[in-house]
Amino acid sequence: MWSTVLRTSLHLPSTLIERIEQAIFPPLCSSCRTRMPLRVPLCRTCQTSSRRILPLTYQHRHVTVNVYSIGAYEGAIQKLILSKNYGQAYGAQALAQLLAAEHLDKIMDAQCIMPVPLHWSRKMWRGFNQSEIIARHLSRHSHVPVDTHMHRATKTPQLTRLSITERNAIMQNVFALPGNSLAHKVHYHGAHVVIVDDVYTTGTTVKSMITVLKKMGVRRVTVLVAARVI
Ligand SMILES: [Zn+2]
Repeated sequence: MWSTVLRTSLHLPSTLIERIEQAIFPPLCSSCRTRMPLRVPLCRTCQTSSRRILPLTYQHRHVTVNVYSIGAYEGAIQKLILSKNYGQAYGAQALAQLLAAEHLDKIMDAQCIMPVPLHWSRKMWRGFNQSEIIARHLSRHSHVPVDTHMHRATKTPQLTRLSITERNAIMQNVFALPGNSLAHKVHYHGAHVVIVDDVYTTGTTVKSMITVLKKMGVRRVTVLVAARVI
């Protein structure tokens, strides 16, 4: 924004504008705030603080699911994800940039990008949905539209301390696509849908959304998550 103001109002050359911008807003690592030579989300140390992991592929309700992440839920990636608990959205922006840099090619043929919805009361309390910020960034770079039709019909407790059986029981019928189901069936028939979330643990949340999408005829789901718990 600053560079645009300087360029349009003072007619300065772009190299000089970049130097002024670097001096006023030096590139900092989003996690440890170290000054860096280039404007990238993480410094080299923070980038390697989370292990890279292979994608996960499985079938759920006869829908093919591929799960891609930036890395394991640890180090700087975990720190950026947890920044949401302090009312900070900068973590989501950095995570979105890292996800786009690595996995944008996996979603270019998708029909829509669906962030995992928060219950309205949790979103109001936090002020934003981290998954939605990531989804909107991915949408800007892929031109695949964001789809926020999916709703979280019931408020659920934090799943982190629950067993898989308890999670499955709680997450049944949590999500819904309000509106005309016939119109949804036409809209989603044979579609490739991208689901975006910040953390993937057992996949219970994603599978619960896929159950709803399968009923609408979705054929393939790509899940992009900032980190996976391994
Ligand atoms: Zn760093």
